[in-house]
Amino acid sequence: MRLVLVGPPGAGKGTQAQFLAAHYLIPHISTGDIFRSNLKAGTPLGLQAKTFMDRGELVPDSVTNEMVAARLEEVDAAQGFILDGWPRNVVQAHTLRAMMLTKKTPLSAVLEFSISHEEILSRLLTRAQVEQRLDDKAEIITRRLEVYEEQTAPIISFYRSEGLLISVSAIGSVDEITQRSISALNRVS
Ligand code: AMP
Repeated sequence: MRLVLVGPPGAGKGTQAQFLAAHYLIPHISTGDIFRSNLKAGTPLGLQAKTFMDRGELVPDSVTNEMVAARLEEVDAAQGFILDGWPRNVVQAHTLRAMMLTKKTPLSAVLEFSISHEEILSRLLTRAQVEQRLDDKAEIITRRLEVYEEQTAPIISFYRSEGLLISVSAIGSVDEITQRSISALNRVS
């Protein structure tokens, strides 16, 4: 299973990715997590990413794409993967497409978690209190949602036109959404 998860910040991609990764026995690759662990370790990549993350902006494609390309070369990704947070714009989506073409390993599906703007705002404000993430402050949340609409949402139509898009509602309990996702994926694979 080679899967991409798409949805606005706070839609539950990270949580669902963990459960789906355990179900399909494939790695969960989260670009946000990779940036955060680099930041914690004080690596040059982490410091480079920080200036963008703190503002709710995307880290430049050159940095992000190279990082993901290296991660996908690791041995555990050979049997499949779940990408969470990449691609996040049309250039990244084209980069992934080219990578998969070169490797002759097409994507299995792109799973979109759909959720209303209001629900997202309230979830992110709650997460800000629980996780103390610096990029979950109100003004940065607003910017991250704008960036999602402007730069990430267009990849949904791209994947729809490629015939890869599956949409599931992101409203419900974690377990309900996992089951919904697995049923939807079973129908295509
Ligand atoms: P996330 O945990 O996926 O919400 O990502 C947190 C932050 O990391 C984002 O707001 C961006 O600053 C950065 N980031 C994560 N994934 C990407 C990506 N694919 N392209 C550019 N920046 C990213």
